[in-house]
Amino acid sequence: MNVKNLMAELERKHPGESEYLQAVQEVLESIEEVYNQHPEFEKAKIVERIVEPDRIFTFRVTWVDDKGEVQTNLGYRVQFNSAIGPYKGGLRFHKAVNPSMLKFLGFEQTFKNALTTLPMGGAKGGSDFDPVGKSDAEIMRFCQAFMTELWNNIGVDTDVPAGDVGVGGREIGFLNGMYQKLARKYHTGVLTGKGMTWGGSELRPEATGYGALYFVQHMLDKAGKSLKGATVAISGFGNVAWGAAQKATELGAKVIAISGPDGVIYNPNGMTDEKIDYMLELRASNRNIVAPFAERFPDATFTPGKKAWSVKCDIALPCAFQNELNGDDAKELIANGTWCCAEVSNMGCTPEAIHAFQSAGVLFAPGKAVNAGGVATSGLEMTQNCMHISWSGKEVDEKLHYIMESIHEACVKYGTQEDGTVNYVKGANIAGFMKVATAMLEQGII
Ligand code: GLU
Repeated sequence: MNVKNLMAELERKHPGESEYLQAVQEVLESIEEVYNQHPEFEKAKIVERIVEPDRIFTFRVTWVDDKGEVQTNLGYRVQFNSAIGPYKGGLRFHKAVNPSMLKFLGFEQTFKNALTTLPMGGAKGGSDFDPVGKSDAEIMRFCQAFMTELWNNIGVDTDVPAGDVGVGGREIGFLNGMYQKLARKYHTGVLTGKGMTWGGSELRPEATGYGALYFVQHMLDKAGKSLKGATVAISGFGNVAWGAAQKATELGAKVIAISGPDGVIYNPNGMTDEKIDYMLELRASNRNIVAPFAERFPDATFTPGKKAWSVKCDIALPCAFQNELNGDDAKELIANGTWCCAEVSNMGCTPEAIHAFQSAGVLFAPGKAVNAGGVATSGLEMTQNCMHISWSGKEVDEKLHYIMESIHEACVKYGTQEDGTVNYVKGANIAGFMKVATAMLEQGII
């Protein structure tokens, strides 16, 4: 394999798909050396096949808003790779959603799901529907219209969607209701992230954030550091940021910043249960602003237009969106003494930021390893649904712990460098790739 030639070919085929090309380039650069030691991969053209989705469904979603006006959005499902199991991955509702974004997410999901130890292929979907400012009734009508197109292409053993940015428990409820009505199938396992009374798993809402902090714990242990007393800056205030803030606080760290598109909250005294609960209220308001946090809690201050990375912290946890931490942000963090950055969002850091962290010796781990606890717990939800049982929160938490430890071990196995430090980007990419590539090889040219 020659990464430069492969990338040039992909750029020619998919011009302008910047997020997708960025995600592919990162993986190819990490795996190049190992790949070239496996002539059987080269012969089966594994890499040329693995970078292209199996198929993409694109559809029109038409619905009526509260004013009675007809609205039209685009809907997508990218079924990326099913070599190790049924397609699995979230749905993103965000105004910037386009095929490049969903292809990057589906590609990342394929390797992330492979890392979880569970048999799940990779997928992603969503819409350019913007939930900001929408009423609950509008969100319901949109979800129903979206599902009238999607339902025929998903299923317990084919493709199992879940939430992502803009899609949480409320949306999964509306989507599942419409699925059951259309499909006349009442298996609880066709979507994950469900409510607790209709097949949801204990701890699924918390799992992405909790899993991320379990991963960080292992990473810090290995480097002889600890979360205790560390200051943590988190971007975002949604479901993932909420779980991360909760677990970081429980493990003895102080969460001193959260942020939104409108600016940053500086929270010098750390989180309390009340503050963590309020993050949920902020998210549910559909306003996508974090400023009211400082009105509600006077010991916190709001600075408009600033990112979480402007706050001096030991550990940075991007929990919002791709490329939300760039090279300049990384430099600012490094200058302020940050010694660890773990991506909890998918591809939260730009390549320049990752490079800056790695060159400065900042502990860095990529999203596909750090945030895999979310989809892993979705996998556990699918298992419970198929077995028609539900595990206690304690049981799910134990399994989540085990999975995050296994992912960390896989990163160490494939990412340990000559000086004994771990390159987690390389480790995660090689571990995920080897599993999917082997599965593809053994199943022939299809
Ligand atoms: N959207 C989440 C992710 O990026 C969860 C996907 C799922 O649970 O299927 O991994």
